[in-house]
Amino acid sequence: MIVNKVVEEYIRKKSQTDNKLLREIEEFALKNNIPIIEPEVRNFLGMIVKIKKPCKILEIGTAIGYSSIIMKMASKDSKITTIEINEDSFLEAKLNIEKFGFEKDIHCILGDANEVIELLEDEYDLIFIDAAKGQYINFFEKTIDKLKVNGVLVSDNILFRGMVAEEKYKTTRHRKITIVKRLDEYIDLLINDKRLSSSIVPIDDGMMITYRNE
Ligand code: SAH
Ligand code: MG
Repeated sequence: MIVNKVVEEYIRKKSQTDNKLLREIEEFALKNNIPIIEPEVRNFLGMIVKIKKPCKILEIGTAIGYSSIIMKMASKDSKITTIEINEDSFLEAKLNIEKFGFEKDIHCILGDANEVIELLEDEYDLIFIDAAKGQYINFFEKTIDKLKVNGVLVSDNILFRGMVAEEKYKTTRHRKITIVKRLDEYIDLLINDKRLSSSIVPIDDGMMITYRNE
């Protein structure tokens, strides 16, 4: 929670879905402690995809397929490639994707994104980064050349429960200090990149929307 709790709860309540299959995945995630996007992020991500209408999407961090399914629902003509390092999650994602009948258009790859990305030959209209927070800079450096001009990069959890905005986590000894520092560096890297325009959005754990101008 980053913004006022009452406001966040209000927005979250207004963002609930009545899709039974989606709710089942949400319940599974809750029970098994899998950090899928929250309802307000789901709506926001879906909105970006609706507006952008990307032909090709790359996702780093499939988990159990929820956000891939959301993006596919938002844009029926999109093809998605999504990478997941954890085999149990990968298998669960495949099952969930089949339940929606999206298996032809959502291609799940099991492996470490750091290695898998280098093997991808496509260019993408939209990239969603939502995996290990300490590695966002690596993911960015490996994917930015695969993001088309006029493409959109969405980065999730960039404020790390708001800690990224607080000096104390960057200057003192703290267990989470490495992730916080790295996310802070990641934000600076994107903000200062002349090819890109970025906007930080304080919903849930913080998102960054980045547009590639050139
Ligand atoms: N995008 C999903 C949630 C992803 S949670 C959704 O909102 O529905 C983050 C996922 O990233 C976890 O499942 C984790 O196993 C995966 N992950 C972490 N490091 C990774 C890496 N190096 N390569 C691929 N996946 C990774
Ligand atoms: Mg996330």
